[in-house]
Amino acid sequence: MNHEIPRVVDAVIGGQRGDEGKGKITDELASDPYNRFVVRYNGADNAGHTLLHDDKEYDTHGLPSGILHEHITNVVANGVLVNPHHTALEISKFKKIGVRLENENLAISNISCMILPHHIQLDKIREQGNGRQGSTARGVAFAASDQSLREGVLTESLTSSSAKRELREKIETGIEAANKEAAEQGLGHLMVHNVKGVTDYWLRRSVEIVPYITDTVSLMRDAVLRGDGIIAEGAQAMGLDKNYGQYPCVSSSNPGVAGMLSGMAIPHSSVKDVYMVAKMMRSHVGGGPFITEETEDHQLIDRLIGSPDDIDGEYGTSTGRKRRIGYFDIPELKTAAHLNDVTHLVLTKLDLAPRFGDSIKIATSYLTPDGVIDYVPVGSARQQEACTPIYEEIPVWSEDISSTRSYNELPLKAKRLIAFIEEHVGVQVSYIGVGPGREQLIKK
Ligand code: GDP
Repeated sequence: MNHEIPRVVDAVIGGQRGDEGKGKITDELASDPYNRFVVRYNGADNAGHTLLHDDKEYDTHGLPSGILHEHITNVVANGVLVNPHHTALEISKFKKIGVRLENENLAISNISCMILPHHIQLDKIREQGNGRQGSTARGVAFAASDQSLREGVLTESLTSSSAKRELREKIETGIEAANKEAAEQGLGHLMVHNVKGVTDYWLRRSVEIVPYITDTVSLMRDAVLRGDGIIAEGAQAMGLDKNYGQYPCVSSSNPGVAGMLSGMAIPHSSVKDVYMVAKMMRSHVGGGPFITEETEDHQLIDRLIGSPDDIDGEYGTSTGRKRRIGYFDIPELKTAAHLNDVTHLVLTKLDLAPRFGDSIKIATSYLTPDGVIDYVPVGSARQQEACTPIYEEIPVWSEDISSTRSYNELPLKAKRLIAFIEEHVGVQVSYIGVGPGREQLIKK
C-alpha cells in the first residue's frame, strides 16, 4: 500500500524555540512551481510569519505564508485552532492590499476546533490574575483544553443554522462563566457586560470565513495521491512541543512531524523532506529553562539582540520586549533531528555570527547529575534545568557576508563552522540565511 503513496510533502519546522526564520525557507520552497500547496497544520493565530509584499512587511498570524504566491493553494488544516473572527479580519486586511484570497486559493478545514470569545476572556483572566503564564492571551490553551474535554466546537458549526444556535448558546454560557471568574478574582474590567451584543458581533464577523470552509482532509488526500507538491509549515518549534518540549513551558500543539501527520491528515509515507530551521544565536521568549542562555556579558547580549528598529532585532513580536539570548545548542537540534527524521538543516542568521567576536561558543553536550549527555531531555523543564552546557569555541570571520549568494564565496571559517554543525547534529545544511531579506539565502 505505502509504495503507491507519492512522497510529495516537504515539512518546514522550527528546531529551537520559535522565530528561527521559517518564513524565508517556506517562501523559497513555495516559489518552486512544482509546489501547489502551503499548509498550516498546528498552532493558532498566535504564530506569525513576516511576508514582504510591494516592499512592505506584513505579518500573517492565522493564514499560511503562501498567500502571496499565485500558483499556491493555502490550507488551514484540521490541526490548527481557528479563531474565525481574527481569521476574517486577516483575510480582509490582505484583500485590501490587493492579495487574491478566494475559495480556490484558500481553504479552511471544516473540522478545526474554534477559539471562542470566552477562551480569550479566560486567558486574559489567567494572565492578569493568579495564574500568570506569559501566554499571548489569545485563548489558545483554553480552546485546546475544551478540545480535550470533548467540548470544543468545530468550524463546520458556522455553516449550519441549527449548529450556529447551539454555538451562540455555548458562547453566551461561556462568557457568563468567565464573567463570574473575573469577578471572583477582582478583575471587573475583564467582565463582558453586553453578552448578547458581543456574541452577535463575533458570529457576524466569523461567518465571513464560511466560503473558505471545506473538507481539507479530502483536499490533502487527493493532492497527495495526484502527486502535487505540498509544503507543510510548522508554527512555533520543537522546544515548545507539548510532549517533547520544556513542559510546562510549552505551547498547546505538536509543532513537529508528529503533529503534522495528524494536523493535516496525511500518511507518513507521503513525507519527502523535513527542513529544520535553526538560527545562529538561540533566543527565547518568556520563562522556562534556557540551557545555553548568556546572562552576564551584557555588551554581547545587546549586540546579539540588536536595535528595536532592526527588522531582525530580537524583540518579542507582540510584547516588544527583548528576547533572552544565548548560544547555539547542538544537543537540542540533534534530538529534534532524531524525533523528526530531519533531512535538511536550514541555518539562519549566519550573517550575525561575527557579533559574537573572534569566536563563538557552541554547546555540544551537557553535564547532568547523572553524567554527560549529548541529547536534550525532552518533555520536562525540570530535567532541562539540571543541565549545564559544555561548550566548544569555534573561530569566527569578521567579513560581512550579507551580500554573499554562493556557498563557495563564504569565508573559510564560515564553512568550517557549518561543517562543525553538520557533523555534530548529523544532518547536512542545505540553506543558509545571511540576512532578513528574501534573497539573502544561500543554497548549499
Ligand atoms: P518564524 O517565526 O520562524 O517564521 O520567523 P520569521 O520568518 O518571521 O523570521 C524571524 C525574523 O528573523 C524576521 O525578522 C526575519 O526577517 C529575520 N531573519 C530570518 N532569517 C534571517 C537571516 O538569515 N539573517 C538575519 N539577520 N535575519 C533573518
